[in-house]
Amino acid sequence: MTHPFLDLPPLTAERFAAIEDRVARLLGTRQDVLITQGEALLPLEGAIRAAAGPGTVALNVITGPYGQTFGDWLRDCGATVHDIAVPFHTAVTAGQVREAFAAHPEIDFVSLVHAEAATGNTNPVAEIGEVVRERGALFYLDAVASVGAEPVLPDAWGVDLCVIGAQKAMGGPAGVSAISVSERAWARMRANPGAPRRSYLSLLDWKERWTDAGRRALPHAPAQLEMLALEACLERIESVGLETVMARHRSAALATRAGAVALGGGLEPYVHEAADAAPVATTLRVPSDVVASEVVARALRSDPALPLAAGGGTLSREMIRVNHYGADAAPGAVRGSLAALGAALAESGLSVDVASAGRAVDAAWA
Ligand SMILES: *Cc1c(COP(=O)(O)O)cnc(C)c1O
Repeated sequence: MTHPFLDLPPLTAERFAAIEDRVARLLGTRQDVLITQGEALLPLEGAIRAAAGPGTVALNVITGPYGQTFGDWLRDCGATVHDIAVPFHTAVTAGQVREAFAAHPEIDFVSLVHAEAATGNTNPVAEIGEVVRERGALFYLDAVASVGAEPVLPDAWGVDLCVIGAQKAMGGPAGVSAISVSERAWARMRANPGAPRRSYLSLLDWKERWTDAGRRALPHAPAQLEMLALEACLERIESVGLETVMARHRSAALATRAGAVALGGGLEPYVHEAADAAPVATTLRVPSDVVASEVVARALRSDPALPLAAGGGTLSREMIRVNHYGADAAPGAVRGSLAALGAALAESGLSVDVASAGRAVDAAWA
């Protein structure tokens, strides 16, 4: 008997290339798209190590934990790094980026996270892209948590290195990711003597051995199961329509926000302005006399499948995350999450109105 995951025929180069083309269509890009066979940290790190070196002057925008990591990689490559750290309850503005360029005109690389699932904010990439383009810097974007939940348009926004992963709003696998790379970015990498070569992190290896060689032979054995899952996930998005998938995430975010306010119990949207809140996940602030991680643990006891988590690290006391992405971008998951949080807050003696939260979710969804 053949096993459904094993004993599969080899994944062909042709099929691999066709999956890359589908990702390019999803992003509406004419740039090279490479599928990278690892979780999104692989292309995120590979792109920084390829594009940045001792001559680089980088503006690194920190709106959550990933921005911190990018700054560490940039410094490790020898780049001079100017950080803008933005409080997690808001988004960075194009004006702040413009001011950073005015203060440091030699900036030639900008790293930005589009949406942060970990902190629940989303940044105005189109407006920031205009500033970056005006100044001629290379623009690096982590769109892992935004793709599928809101528009990601590397060509229209002038993004030179755009990284996506399928595991969030695309509802796909985690072990495979992709990056679109502009001609300018390839030129920067080729000119960088420190860019990884003959390395698992090397984007240039794939460019030379795969893309420029006509995509006829794969340089290494493909991550077959992840590729099949990615293909299925792209097919599903295409058949439902990307607009519909994004609308579900937008509705989930609006409904969670409205429902949390109606629930009461001292729960508040963590991100102050709805326009700065990411469609992929909603973060909530608990009142100071309860601990977020304990509320989440209690809520999950009633239903461990709910998409609830406490904030990471020091945020675990004050932040609850409702990860309404993928299959959980649905009214039932949102309503269930708020009902379970309501019950958990009530156990702490806080006054909540679960029925009102449910009505607010339904009204916001419609
Ligand atoms: C989720 C996410 C990633 C990928 O990280 P995981 O640890 O696999 O979840 C990268 N960047 C951002 C902004 C993310 O939200």
